[in-house]
Amino acid sequence: MTAKPTFSFEFYPPKTSAGQEKLGTTFDELNALSPSYFSVTYGAGGSTRERTLDTINMLKKHGATDIAPHISCIGDDKSQIAELLEYYQSIGISRLVALRGDLPSGQVGMGELPFARDLVAFIREQTGDAFYIEVAAYPEMHPQARSFASDVQNLVNKYQAGANAAITQFFFNADSYLYLRDALEKQGIDTQKQPLIAGIMPITSSSSLVRFADSCGADIPRYVRKQLTDFGDDRKAIREFGFEVVYKLCERLIAESVPALHFYTMNKTEPNRKLVKALGLQ
Ligand code: FAD
Repeated sequence: MTAKPTFSFEFYPPKTSAGQEKLGTTFDELNALSPSYFSVTYGAGGSTRERTLDTINMLKKHGATDIAPHISCIGDDKSQIAELLEYYQSIGISRLVALRGDLPSGQVGMGELPFARDLVAFIREQTGDAFYIEVAAYPEMHPQARSFASDVQNLVNKYQAGANAAITQFFFNADSYLYLRDALEKQGIDTQKQPLIAGIMPITSSSSLVRFADSCGADIPRYVRKQLTDFGDDRKAIREFGFEVVYKLCERLIAESVPALHFYTMNKTEPNRKLVKALGLQ
């Protein structure tokens, strides 16, 4: 029998105190499913620094035991990153998602650590093994990568710089994940020891998903895109169809022994809870 994967949830920091309060409720509901951890995104260039820290502290107050702040390097200098690492250590954080990030519009200059690989190396240099580090992976290639091969090499470099695991960008084609996993194995990465965690985006809307996918280079298969468009404003039909598509994707990944699923929750309880329950991950 195939072992069930572990699972985790990702939140973004809300903009308002009402949003923060609502997220507390979402956390309680999802935490009842016993995920491995919750991660909290971070706006590159420090654009959500305060809100990310507020969210982490709110989750701690709600009893979160394992939180993974995202941390980015583009546009920051080493001292700002070192300060953040020191703070995270002081509040008992032992897991990070390390990213390059994208420069906010209008901001120029890559900073002292231009790529995520440099950030991973810096974190290891500053803090040794204090953090379990996860990095980003792209089954359908990062939009700025020169080639698929160079993007795979970049991921290998991140593992070699000290990353413990990678979380993928969302995808709807299981073969793209499996192809990337094979490509890593061919490059000498033992994905049993340095896992490739599947990033899962539940489908709840049409236009925002299309916009998001286009901006990060994730492919929405034609049969999915067409049907989402055809459903128009029928949110119920979109949710039902979206659930079926993502459930089948997860089922296939589980059959292929994916070690873990990371849900991009969009700060919502459903459909993440529905997927976890239907897949029997609890
Ligand atoms: P890198 O691994 O540094 O790669 C970026 C690009 O540069 C790739 O195309 C790579 O092939 C190329 N590259 C790497 N090294 C070199 C080199 N030496 N020379 C030339 N090219 C090179 N963004 C946020 O702002 N905040 C978040 O919280 C956040 N969370 C995320 C979580 C996950 C799981 C994922 C998948 C993405 C997340 N992102 C987030 C988005 C991410 O920051 C962007 O995709 C960003 O454009 C790349 O970040 P990276 O860490 O993958 O960069």
